[in-house]
Amino acid sequence: MVSIKKQLVAVRSLTSGVGNPCNYITIHETANTVKGANAQSHANLQSKGNSRLASWHYQVDDKEIIQSFLDNVQCWHAGDGQGKGNMESIAIEICVNSDGNFKKAVKNAAELVKYLMKQHSIPIGNVVQHNRWSGKDCPQNLRHGSKGIDWNDFIGLVKGSTGVHVPTQEVGSVVVTKPSSTEYKGNSIVDYLNSKGIDSSTTNRKKLAKEYGISGYDLSIAKNLELLNAMRNGKKPATSTPTPSPEKPKTNEYKGNSIVDYLNSKKIDASFANRKKLANQYGIKNYTGTSAQNTQLLNKMRNGAAPKPTSKPKGDQKTSSIVDYLNSIKDDASFANRKKLANQYGIKNYTGTSAQNTQLLNKMRNGAAPKPTSKPKGDQKTSSIVDYLNSIKVDASFANRKKLAAKYGIKNYTGTASQNNQLLKKMRG
Ligand SMILES: [Zn+2]
Repeated sequence: MVSIKKQLVAVRSLTSGVGNPCNYITIHETANTVKGANAQSHANLQSKGNSRLASWHYQVDDKEIIQSFLDNVQCWHAGDGQGKGNMESIAIEICVNSDGNFKKAVKNAAELVKYLMKQHSIPIGNVVQHNRWSGKDCPQNLRHGSKGIDWNDFIGLVKGSTGVHVPTQEVGSVVVTKPSSTEYKGNSIVDYLNSKGIDSSTTNRKKLAKEYGISGYDLSIAKNLELLNAMRNGKKPATSTPTPSPEKPKTNEYKGNSIVDYLNSKKIDASFANRKKLANQYGIKNYTGTSAQNTQLLNKMRNGAAPKPTSKPKGDQKTSSIVDYLNSIKDDASFANRKKLANQYGIKNYTGTSAQNTQLLNKMRNGAAPKPTSKPKGDQKTSSIVDYLNSIKVDASFANRKKLAAKYGIKNYTGTASQNNQLLKKMRG
């Protein structure tokens, strides 16, 4: 029986964030035949901050399945930009390392596919090759049957209907286990914290240093190493305060159609057993996990949530006066505020002419979205390159900083405080 090991990537910089509706499953092969290029090594590659602009949800070899991103993340793997491959599918990489058993890896992938199809109500017709999205010859071996097993065999394995040696009751009986005990072995405290999903900002490192009794923590290499070792050795924090849990970033509410992702996004147990319980509570009888029942449950849970702020008052729909309209929605109708509103709604050089007033009135009634204010360019105050990168959502791992340093002409980057300062200055421009 295959289990899913989770080694989730802390920094999501190589993805388009969450919002994947999980409508498809995309099958890839790693094309890396090097010995040892197994699931673990590919998972580690993603944990460390892949140097390629790519990401995928699962990697599978002949022994195990490792998950790097939650299913609702939009990974970059399909080569179709903002297309359905990247935006709406779950990516599985099958390892082709020469010291692995490819057929067994394919079987494990089939089990995973079966499991995901069930989780997200994905039809077999939506289990597709990478080739479908970009025309790339991937998954190469399965496409050509060059290792004695081809795409049809694979689909057969998923259906559990051909000469599969995986007993049908095992197909899809995937168990989610605790994170692997193999952990980051390098010397960067930032990478170490990221690998554990712990906030690696300077603010949090300062906090951790304090809790681990490290005095004079100044972000220097020496102090970072001290902190790293203290945390690795599991040295009990000096104070009796409990180990801090990482601050959870505020996430936008999940908008997709999967009850499982919805529950995960709310940190609610998404197992079948718990969904059955919830279904019961929400009056859905004989829950067996059908797609219709899942949708029903999702809708009920969504509607039962704390009421959203009431929708914008619609105001006086008859008046042709912007002033009267603003008064009716209890907004400031002064010239100054109208000028501000005009600006927000993209009306230039507002002087209060009758034409401009009518324009503003129409835009406000239609609820035309105000022009987004220009985005801030990231944290302009911090003196930490890591915090700065995090603030602009760029991978802050050592590997990526080294890459950035090279790009900005900083040679022999080893992560010293002065190199970090230099990089920060150059990136801020
Ligand atoms: Zn591929």
